[in-house]
Amino acid sequence: MLSSVQKRYWGTHTFKTSRSLEERCNQILRNMEASLTARDRVGIQDFVLLDPHTSESAFLDNLRKRFHENLIYTYIGTLLVSVNPYKELDIYSKKQMDTYMGVNFFELPPHIYALADNVFRTMQSEFNNHFILISGESGAGKTEASKKILQFYAVSCPSTKLLNNVRDRLLLSNPVLEAFGNAKTLKNDNSSRFGKYMDIQFDHQGGAVGGHILSYLLEKSRVVHQNHGERNFHIFYQLVEGGEEDLLRWLGLERNCKNYRYLVQGDCAKVSSINDKSDWKTVRKALSVIEFSESDTEHLFGIIASVLHLGNIKFDVDARGYATLNNNQEMHWVSKLLGIPNQVLQQGLTHRKIEAKTEEVFSPFSVDHAVYARDALAKAIYGRTFNWLVNKINESLANKDSSRKTVIGLLDIYGFEVFSVNSFEQFCINYCNEKLQQLFIELTLKSEQEEYEMEGIEWEPVPYFNNKIICDLVEEKFRGIISLLDEECLRPGEATDITFLEKMEEKIGGHPHFVTHKLGDQKTRKTLDRGDFRLLHYAGEVTYCVVGFLDKNNDLLYRNGKEVMRQSKNAIIKHCFPSTEPDSKRRPETVVTQFKSSLVGLTEILMSKEPWYVRCIKPNEAKQPGHFNDVLVRHQVKYLGLMEHLRVRRAGFAYRRKYEIFLQRYKPLCPDTWPNWKGTAAEGVQLLIKHLGYKPDEYKMGRTKIFIRHPRTLFATEDAFQV
Ligand code: ATP
Ligand code: MG
Repeated sequence: MLSSVQKRYWGTHTFKTSRSLEERCNQILRNMEASLTARDRVGIQDFVLLDPHTSESAFLDNLRKRFHENLIYTYIGTLLVSVNPYKELDIYSKKQMDTYMGVNFFELPPHIYALADNVFRTMQSEFNNHFILISGESGAGKTEASKKILQFYAVSCPSTKLLNNVRDRLLLSNPVLEAFGNAKTLKNDNSSRFGKYMDIQFDHQGGAVGGHILSYLLEKSRVVHQNHGERNFHIFYQLVEGGEEDLLRWLGLERNCKNYRYLVQGDCAKVSSINDKSDWKTVRKALSVIEFSESDTEHLFGIIASVLHLGNIKFDVDARGYATLNNNQEMHWVSKLLGIPNQVLQQGLTHRKIEAKTEEVFSPFSVDHAVYARDALAKAIYGRTFNWLVNKINESLANKDSSRKTVIGLLDIYGFEVFSVNSFEQFCINYCNEKLQQLFIELTLKSEQEEYEMEGIEWEPVPYFNNKIICDLVEEKFRGIISLLDEECLRPGEATDITFLEKMEEKIGGHPHFVTHKLGDQKTRKTLDRGDFRLLHYAGEVTYCVVGFLDKNNDLLYRNGKEVMRQSKNAIIKHCFPSTEPDSKRRPETVVTQFKSSLVGLTEILMSKEPWYVRCIKPNEAKQPGHFNDVLVRHQVKYLGLMEHLRVRRAGFAYRRKYEIFLQRYKPLCPDTWPNWKGTAAEGVQLLIKHLGYKPDEYKMGRTKIFIRHPRTLFATEDAFQV
């Protein structure tokens, strides 16, 4: 029976139990037996234990069975697959956390806490940095998973008054960032509209001593426009619904979302799954815990309110056809809340400043232009305030002590999304997901197999789809979509969204993952408009409408818009629009190019750490509990590369370490290597494993590393320390 147990593997830890190896194996055995006898009902908790020739259907059967038993977690080795239950499960209590703390990864049923605990203890024992990549499409449960992990660390880490302080700030940074960066979309009522990477820093004792957040490309366009069935960022509704009477009066707001243009376009200000009033209270409390002063919050809400007022500003047409603002009530509020003289604001919203040789000339806007400038200003104000907020949270999470720390990074980024109409935002989000899939492939399927080859280990290669071809299509220098888009953005006045499309057709028309109306066959043409292009992403086809691509990529804020903001007395706005900011003489980087660079930075951060994976799956499109849509899940299993991962895992080696590290750790177990081994590390390891009685099929010696097939072997070695 133990042979099936051999398929499991675990890390090199000492555990909180002092049970003997035999007892622990028996426990695993009992779990296994229970799992096997109950298999028909509840499935198998580690896919590695399924029949070696597991088909995709068997894989799916297992997920479905478990899902219907409320068993949402399943392992593929140390990778955790999580299926969104769309209902509250009683599996996240403090008691559950205690159960998982310090217990071997495979001794208990799969859980996000088991993964969190394993990462933490590996970090502690090896004193190195780790990250958990949480992926899956929009609504699959990434943000929830990242919150569970953070909560687990908050409870399981050592606590002192000081540490508790940090813990509270780490936890409460979440509702604040979600309020400002999440929104209801058609896919998810709490969809992350920004990417978030959070480092949690731990000291030698495992205390969480600080944190740092990096945010990626907030979807600013949502501030001024929402599609039907979608909302603006939560904070607007929270303020209007939950804001105290005095506060609303001071901000000039009415308690009715319907009164604000920026809040009604999606026609769904009220959402049954969201309680804006109570969320408002949580955010208020959280802001005070993360050290926002009274004046910070005052200024912050002043900004949120002024964005709402800005959205309500209407322009009149003067006799010459230009935009004017006549004694506008909204102007009064924006001017008051941002501390900008009414006249200055008025001028800024209706005129563009042109610098002639000797003087400044103000050219009036048409109404369309004025509306554009107003919306651009609203987006800029919100976007910059969001960045300020992240910085402010970082200040509060910063660890002042300079001693070396180890970190666990949590990556929770907007998931792959496909709507009926997809624009520049979806293009950026889906590109980001391509990059993360590429990273996953690099770190698991590709590097794992390359490593065997490099180390001279015999290996039957596992084929997989490498999405590098799509990443290249998007980001390749000079001929990738990003380059072509940027090129068009450099031709103001001449280029349009359609010339961008034509340029793509000309330069990348033959690419197998790119198609347009003109390039497609008859069948494709029926489903594509002239202004569309379609990308065959790793996760499926997405049709993008080019309208707005150039504009959103340029993200122009008229120069006098910035100058007006510089006169603000609102401390946050002052900070966000510094007078030292270079003027538009030097062309700022386009949005997509900045995004691309930030993703390169993120990849570098991640590559320097040990990876762990949570792959989230969305069971149905209706956000309903109990519904498991086979077609939908099968598609996700496919594109998430789960079958390939399983094949590599099953055929591979559970554990590998450089000879030096292995020897260093285990040499006390062998009198021939302890204390001072003189030969090469590989020879030392050979002696060591001979002494430990490893059987030939249990391990392989590579060029620089030892590879151990089954965790049981390592488990026994670890146990030898305790004897
Ligand atoms: P996006 O890419 O749009 O940000 P996401 O993957 O982050 O999506 P979440 O916001 O984490 O998705 O999850 C969507 C919703 O699904 C949650 O608001 C919650 O209602 C439900 N959900 C997700 N995970 C769980 C869970 N473990 N238990 C209960 N409900 C869950
Ligand atoms: Mg999310």
